[in-house]
Amino acid sequence: MNPEPVTDWAQLPLSRTTVDRAAELRDDVELVERLLTASSTRVVLVRGASLAVRDAHGSSVPGALVLDLVPGAEVVAVLATTQSELTAPHAPGWLFLGTDDDGAYLALVLPAEADEDVDISGVVPARAEDILGRGRRFENLRDAGHLLDARDAGLATTAVGVAAWHVRALRCEHCGEATRPARNGWSRVCTSDGREVFPRTDPAVIMAVVDDAERLLLGHAAHWPEGRFSTLAGFVEAGESVEAAVRREVREETTVVIGDVVYRSSQPWPFPRSLMLGFRAHAVTTDVVVDGVEVTDARWFTRDGLAADLAAGRVLLPMRSSIARGLIEEWYGGPLADRTG
Ligand SMILES: [Zn+2]
Repeated sequence: MNPEPVTDWAQLPLSRTTVDRAAELRDDVELVERLLTASSTRVVLVRGASLAVRDAHGSSVPGALVLDLVPGAEVVAVLATTQSELTAPHAPGWLFLGTDDDGAYLALVLPAEADEDVDISGVVPARAEDILGRGRRFENLRDAGHLLDARDAGLATTAVGVAAWHVRALRCEHCGEATRPARNGWSRVCTSDGREVFPRTDPAVIMAVVDDAERLLLGHAAHWPEGRFSTLAGFVEAGESVEAAVRREVREETTVVIGDVVYRSSQPWPFPRSLMLGFRAHAVTTDVVVDGVEVTDARWFTRDGLAADLAAGRVLLPMRSSIARGLIEEWYGGPLADRTG
């Protein structure tokens, strides 16, 4: 077993960030227009949970990526000469992500790829969203988050999270009328009654359950690939503390009773809007009976046993961008790899 390094909780892939969100600028209604005239302003292209990226040439990290940032002026030029739904009243439009010493960062949300419309003369209309996305490589944040540096990981996670909220908040939750974006992408306002809503995030607990013999409890969910095991997790219910949620989820999914619960760290998980709160939880019982619905298998692993299962390809770990991976590696005492890397 390699004792070093253990999980660096300050470096969870999607928790890293360097850009100042500069929230004090969000109420400036001319902000985006002004930023787009600055040559230092760059634009993150978002499509669902995916982002435009390219290879980080010269990085020492295998497979490292950087965001394929587009100069603001280039986006403006495309929008000025093409038809587009990007700036329709209901569309998310521009998201102001923040600033650093190099300039300002905006995100533009591209619609999911659809069949290209062909008009009656057989010409494919050149839409701005198609032109901007054409020839670019898009990668899902879940798969690529750990391959980005801290600046880009923070920009990407914020852009995906806010964009995901916009497409789910097109209607007012009070009256059902259409909403429109406001505060440079950080709120939406009902076009009928003026109520304003803000991006929401759902707290979820995720826990490394460890018994007196230092074994780790991992579960397998019905919809996961065969052999994939991860830490137990679940959403915090209304009127519930996170500690109570840890105990309830573990008991519901495995019947294991939890004693002490210690908070470790958190990571945004904007798929579409979770905030993962990571814990170490001490098991005071060890009999496991899975619920058979959410969790179809759960087992206690020793460190040597897990290492052997990974080496033999019998067990797959949660993805590298997840906090689950960090919780498992902290318990193990060092980095782990499965047959997928
Ligand atoms: Zn309304």
